[in-house]
Amino acid sequence: MRFSALKVLTQGLTGNRGWRAHWRDPEPAEAYDIVIIGGGGHGLSTAYYLAKEHGLRRIAVLEKGYIGGGNIGRNTTIVRANYFLPGNSEFYSHSLKLWEGLEADLNYNVMHSQRGQIGLFHSDGQRDAAIRRANSIRNQGDDAELLSVAQLRKMVPYLDYDQGRFPIYGGLLQRRAGTARHDAVAWGYARGADQLGVDLIQNCEVTGIDIVQGVVQGVQTSRGAIRAKKVAMVVAGRSSQVAAMAGMRLPIESHVLQAFVTEGLKPCIDHVISFGMGHFYISQSDKGGLVFGGDLDMYASYAARGNLPMVEHVAEAGMTLMPMIGKARMLRSWGGIMDMTPDGSPIIDKTHIEGLYLNAGWCYGGFKAVPASGHCFAHLLATDRPHSAAARFRLDRFRSGRGLMDEEGTGAQHNLH
Ligand SMILES: Cc1cc2nc3c(=O)[nH]c(=O)nc-3n(C[C@H](O)[C@H](O)[C@H](O)COP(=O)(O)OP(=O)(O)OC[C@H]3O[C@@H](n4cnc5c(N)ncnc54)[C@H](O)[C@@H]3O)c2cc1C
Repeated sequence: MRFSALKVLTQGLTGNRGWRAHWRDPEPAEAYDIVIIGGGGHGLSTAYYLAKEHGLRRIAVLEKGYIGGGNIGRNTTIVRANYFLPGNSEFYSHSLKLWEGLEADLNYNVMHSQRGQIGLFHSDGQRDAAIRRANSIRNQGDDAELLSVAQLRKMVPYLDYDQGRFPIYGGLLQRRAGTARHDAVAWGYARGADQLGVDLIQNCEVTGIDIVQGVVQGVQTSRGAIRAKKVAMVVAGRSSQVAAMAGMRLPIESHVLQAFVTEGLKPCIDHVISFGMGHFYISQSDKGGLVFGGDLDMYASYAARGNLPMVEHVAEAGMTLMPMIGKARMLRSWGGIMDMTPDGSPIIDKTHIEGLYLNAGWCYGGFKAVPASGHCFAHLLATDRPHSAAARFRLDRFRSGRGLMDEEGTGAQHNLH
């Protein structure tokens, strides 16, 4: 079923009785060519591009819960391509280009909104760093503009420009950055993959990975054994646990990241705004809620939930930057489990086990990566060669120390990225 304006109109006039489920609910087959563990954004986009770009059909995505229940449905929906270092820069540039054609490609409204993202700076040093970053982004072919305080005051008048502690010196704007509706991205990829013959199997937890003499044979699941020529681990915050089923110890720690939403308000925040002196970023959803997030809880945990100290910490940062936010009532907060690597950059690679592949380490930036991650991982799975846009996301960089991509310049510590 294709969506179109005419379809919406005719369905509206005939009681909306003609819509069908977006994807089938198949029983798992005994064997597949490729089994993807994890039905989050990255697993679903991998399945979609495997089928679409490489013509593969015998593919299953095994999801222990339901499609959209993981981080793909929990993030603050920011999409941008303003990374600094080679490796990340070309990858996120590739991803933004895929985002720009995504709705037409999937025939699905993911509400991709290029409303612009502004990263604020608050000192001469931060301004220098922003200028360097802007040059790097432009060298990559993407857009970056430096904004003066006078320009900012016109565009975003609600910031506190006059407070003494963190004065605003200017901002780095990327106009093509913005947001997308996160769960619609999961649904769009799921529907696209299903239409190309991929089996999406929900409520199917992988409990073991079968390996004989260094070669993968398939997986054990809560719904029985499934044979597979290739197995792809794409489970975000659960990466260490799933890799341990294959006897692997990953350079990943899992940490909780929380997000918050207020009651619906009239449009007041037109862009995505990031505070430069605290971990605070905010945008307004199409329903009107102010959606914002902060820092990781600074300890490793698998608890996907919020807590009061972080509510206070993030609310303080919000009040410092835009005191008007104090008038809004916070409705909800939640947490998601982040797969943090020591350098803050991801992994898309083969493992030392033949037929076993790894996609992990998205930290708190993996939503914007969903299209390119699936695109590049599908390329690796289908051809056994890395895609040029993800060529530096090697697993062995943490063993050798060569090729680390420490984007934040904070050193090799998981919870600092
Ligand atoms: C609060 C918050 C804010 C964020 N904000 C942003 C942002 O603004 N911009 C941005 O780019 N990124 C952001 N992120 C990060 C982004 O959401 C993640 O990096 C990304 O979604 C992770 O990839 P995924 O979608 O595949 O993960 P998930 O949706 O978590 O998918 C992994 C799936 O694997 C499944 N799974 C796990 N173990 C098994 C098993 N044994 N068997 C079968 N299935 C299993 C899980 O159930 C889950 O559905 C944010 C994250 C959070 C939590």
